[in-house]
Amino acid sequence: MKLDARQQACLHEMGIDVWRLRGSADAAESPADVSMAGDEHAADVAGVWTSLQKTVSSCTLCELHKGRTHTVFGVGDPRADWLLIGEAPGAEEDRQGEPFVGRAGQLLNNMIRAIGLDRESVFIANILKCRPPNNRDPRPEEVTCCEPYLRQQIELIQPKIILALGRVAAQNLLKVSTPIGKMRGQKYVYPGTEIPVLVTYHPAYLLRSPSEKRKSWQDLQMAVKLFRKLQ
Ligand code: SF4
Repeated sequence: MKLDARQQACLHEMGIDVWRLRGSADAAESPADVSMAGDEHAADVAGVWTSLQKTVSSCTLCELHKGRTHTVFGVGDPRADWLLIGEAPGAEEDRQGEPFVGRAGQLLNNMIRAIGLDRESVFIANILKCRPPNNRDPRPEEVTCCEPYLRQQIELIQPKIILALGRVAAQNLLKVSTPIGKMRGQKYVYPGTEIPVLVTYHPAYLLRSPSEKRKSWQDLQMAVKLFRKLQ
């Protein structure tokens, strides 16, 4: 996956030379380009993962670091087949340093359980690692600066499927401006990879619009069907 000039500048400011694992063919182009080989792979992945966590926890790359209590790196199994990606931490997530806690988190847990998984067996992350004030939408420059972290996580996790939760997550992940209603039911791929991405509503939206839960369930069923085909 290639990074644009601004993202590379962000990485430089982070003090990241360009993360890569041994054996990466074109690693100089992206911190997310990794190549895995044998037993060394697991150790490499663990090391890069720990470095990434540490870097995120002290990141001051965008303005959002000023108002945060905690960064929210993500939660779950770093080797999960399923990666669920939301928008950004809210107030409670900022307090606890964990994504999707509170009522929306409970609903997400139920959605995950509904497809036979649990919170510990998937990985849950957000587009942004720090909370935007008053839960406003992420700004493009914030997404640009934070995106390399998520890309790196995706390369390390190597999920079989990604589920984008809500408009903001879907549009930023896929670099489109399509309304979420039109993205549902379509199969996308995460740019630069072959990892399929499906889109559904954000649990917070479903709490406000419970009549849409049925559509969300259809999305989850589609995701399960696709995942089974990948086996
Ligand atoms: S939102 Fe991302 S880029 Fe901005 S300060 Fe937090 S971790 Fe850094």
